[in-house]
Amino acid sequence: VIQYEGFTPEENEILRRGVIVNSLETIKGWARSNSLWPLTFGLACCAIEMMGTGAANYDLDRFGIIFRASPRQSDVMIVAGTVTKKMAPLLRRLYDQMAEPKWVVSMGVCATAGGPYVNSYSVVKGVDQIVPVDVYVPGCPPSPPALIYGLNLLQEKIRLEARGKKVQA
Ligand code: SF4
Repeated sequence: VIQYEGFTPEENEILRRGVIVNSLETIKGWARSNSLWPLTFGLACCAIEMMGTGAANYDLDRFGIIFRASPRQSDVMIVAGTVTKKMAPLLRRLYDQMAEPKWVVSMGVCATAGGPYVNSYSVVKGVDQIVPVDVYVPGCPPSPPALIYGLNLLQEKIRLEARGKKVQA
């Protein structure tokens, strides 16, 4: 029996009968999750993997994820690399300029917790001290499939939250 992800058994039964019943919020969540526009913004070596993920081989476009060059056209920030204390206020300013609703992906151990530079005086020990993070992708650097998995989790989170479910980072 086919089980549709993210739906209750009762909703699955309705879907199997070919009837589509849904709230506007659910449709909005589905549309938003399949049209994510990350800001073109990299901080260190993790950004190279992020660029590779967006290029032809891994092809992020197939998930509706297309990089934008302006924070005003973006709704996702992928923090790819080491966040220095000098860069932190600029990162926050870019986040503030992004359109609502917006989401943040922390890519790699540097962005998540300082990584190999955790003892440096100049490095922020976690970008969640600067902006709220929705998904953490582990690795140094995370591979493109790992970043894709993280972005797929973000899409699932957006769909669930649109249906009123609380999802933790
Ligand atoms: Fe570079 Fe590793 Fe830090 Fe990513 S997590 S920015 S690959 S040192």
